[in-house]
Amino acid sequence: MYLFSAITQVPYPRATTALVAATFAVLLDLIFRFRDYRDLLHSLPVLGYMKFSGILTLVSLQVVALFYLITLLPGSLRAVVILLSAFVVIIQLSYWRTLSQFMTGTDLFLAVTVSGDHRVEAISSFFKPLVLLYALPYALILSVLILVPSRSALRLTLALSFLPALYLLVSNYALFLYVPERSFHLNPLTSFLRSTLHWKFENLRGYRGPRDDLPPFHVSQRPLDSIIYVIDESVRGSNLSLNGYPRATTPFLQSLETQGLLKNLGICVAAGSFSHISNAYLITGHNAFPDNDFRTDKNPTIFDYAKKMGYETIYIDINRVYLSSLMNVAGEGFVRSLDQWMTDQSFEERHINLDITKDLGVARVLSSLLNDKGGYFILVNKKGLHFHYCNKYPDDMDSTIWKPVMKSSESIDPSPFGREKLVNTYDNGIRFQVDEFFREFVSETTNQNYVILYTSDHGQTLAEHGQMYTHMKPDKVIVDVPEFLLVGERYGQKNLLAGIPPSIRVSHLNNFSTLLDLMGVPMSLRVSPYDKSIFSLTAEDNRVRYYMSGSLHGFGDYVVKMISTPPDEGWGVSRPVGNGPKFE
Ligand SMILES: [Zn+2]
Repeated sequence: MYLFSAITQVPYPRATTALVAATFAVLLDLIFRFRDYRDLLHSLPVLGYMKFSGILTLVSLQVVALFYLITLLPGSLRAVVILLSAFVVIIQLSYWRTLSQFMTGTDLFLAVTVSGDHRVEAISSFFKPLVLLYALPYALILSVLILVPSRSALRLTLALSFLPALYLLVSNYALFLYVPERSFHLNPLTSFLRSTLHWKFENLRGYRGPRDDLPPFHVSQRPLDSIIYVIDESVRGSNLSLNGYPRATTPFLQSLETQGLLKNLGICVAAGSFSHISNAYLITGHNAFPDNDFRTDKNPTIFDYAKKMGYETIYIDINRVYLSSLMNVAGEGFVRSLDQWMTDQSFEERHINLDITKDLGVARVLSSLLNDKGGYFILVNKKGLHFHYCNKYPDDMDSTIWKPVMKSSESIDPSPFGREKLVNTYDNGIRFQVDEFFREFVSETTNQNYVILYTSDHGQTLAEHGQMYTHMKPDKVIVDVPEFLLVGERYGQKNLLAGIPPSIRVSHLNNFSTLLDLMGVPMSLRVSPYDKSIFSLTAEDNRVRYYMSGSLHGFGDYVVKMISTPPDEGWGVSRPVGNGPKFE
């Protein structure tokens, strides 16, 4: 073959091939993502041009170094690495086609630590077959690397790989320190390496010590009431009819409101645009963005307070997000003061079928716990409505109220008809996962001495402005979440609800003190300056509600944004799409 003989005859075949292949790879990225490069250049001040060319050179050399390292591998291993690289290119391009960026260190951290279902769901929502067409030229370029003859002397190979490997490490550390990830993502392969190293560097700086202790305090007996903190998944506040949505997505909750058992707090601003950030803030009460000082790792958790006040603490974790990720990274013992950690497995042991009715199973477990005795503090990370929405409610006439709906094989299509199906499917999901969840819980619970604080980790875009993604990015619409308090008929502090002024604006940051107030935690026990509780907010508070997206600890890639008062036109409002009946 001509190409093969050409490669074997040039001087320094490895270096030359790596250089030529890298040049093609860099050019290819420039051609595919020309608009991104152009926008980047336009958005930079004059000095930025120098910085941009400097980084482009640095990254181009990274591609050369990476390709050179690949040519040093023995034949079969090289084939495996090339196949893996082609796979990485496909993932990166899918990511870019959906989110207009390659994976960041945070994305990678989440991809590795979240539960299996989330991973499959994320990949299936991102993947578009068209991407294979984009990936093909990369595969061709990579396949040239296989043609370079291999060397067998191990010592020489190691010696030759030292400098390029060192270059990759040092140049990526420089990028970690000085260049925000999102603004300079230049090549799918080196970006992936960069994000991987970024995540490792971030880890090295992470906090590994114990959480702060609470001052000594003694309660003599188990409380009579139970407090349940429900953190739903991907529920957009403005799609609840409780919040004025024109479809009856939450008729049961509205009936509770009429009976005076539910105090709706309107559209709440989530702390972050994805589960990990919101949960970190919700569970530790931290209130500054980003979390530079690792307060979300150092603060006592809500379980510590509950335990101190004599509650039996239970964590129902069927979503496997924040705390599960921390456990995966930091190991057992990271979360103290927990009497029971219930996962899917615990449900299986109790013979509760969690398949599609996962959340209803949780509702039944909550009822049976409460019916047995009081004095629980239970945190629930619900399964909620992660995309694909149609997998979150039964495929039957009763549950498919709004039609047509999406199939689980379909990816997000922002055309009007695509959106109509997307929103219909989502609304059916709300009716089932939110309204039916509470119907099940309230109707099964005989011990009425309880209070529930309900919110969602973040909302969803519902492709309103053509977004192909559901959340993760800093769009304001993503932090639109529901929030309400629900009490049982015999809850001792029922009068608290009546005292909440109607005009307050709530954010996730208000939830921690709200729970402390419900538990009756004295001020002397509260070790951090938490944001005000819902019971002390006034119309003057929260004129600006902040949230963030990106790296929780503010390494490089993060943004802090806000919802002002009054909010932008249309924020906190959602409407069904299409010609179907508007009011059911
Ligand atoms: Zn989430």
